[in-house]
Amino acid sequence: MTGLKQLLVNSHKWAKEKKAQDPNFFTNLAKKQNPNYLWIGCADSRVPANEIVGLDAGELFVHRNVANLFPHSDINCLSVLQFGLEVLEIEEVIVCGHYGCGGVAAAMEPAQSGLVDNWIRYVRDIYFREREQLNTILDPQEKFRKLVELNTIYQVMNVCHTTVVQNLWAKGKRVIVHGCVYDLETGLLKDLDCSVSSLKQVDKKYHTLKLI
Ligand SMILES: [Zn+2]
Repeated sequence: MTGLKQLLVNSHKWAKEKKAQDPNFFTNLAKKQNPNYLWIGCADSRVPANEIVGLDAGELFVHRNVANLFPHSDINCLSVLQFGLEVLEIEEVIVCGHYGCGGVAAAMEPAQSGLVDNWIRYVRDIYFREREQLNTILDPQEKFRKLVELNTIYQVMNVCHTTVVQNLWAKGKRVIVHGCVYDLETGLLKDLDCSVSSLKQVDKKYHTLKLI
């Protein structure tokens, strides 16, 4: 069996197992979602958000796109962020990049994949901006890994540059934005130690409010 039919069979099996573990699992989840984390990750099929951090349905609010980008004018990203932080009252945001990211690899090559190249351009801009640092890395794989990390850190800052996050900080709300990288070869998540939890950690040029 292949295609949708197989997925429907899988769905029945999963729902049955969940109900066996907890008869109220679906009735409770149907009432309200109460996730503690917002995940901004890559659309890559090998990086299944909930699975790699061991969280169940209802525990992770997820936004995924090619190369885990957070462009400051993207209404989709901004809407997820605003709804997640203001309405669901999530306090922790995780931007997750991953080694071996096809989107990042594409941004390093003089080649086209199609329309998606215009999206990947955000990564190409980072590649250009950080060229001096990246050009000191001679090993192509190491350079690739470094750009994956830099791209993730840039997206962490993009989240912190939004009025959504800065307004919440101004109100004294706790919002912390983390940057992590997932390693496809080990299955492990690595903290990039670039967490931001206040306006003081943001460059003044990006302050949309005066620090009190
Ligand atoms: Zn990717």
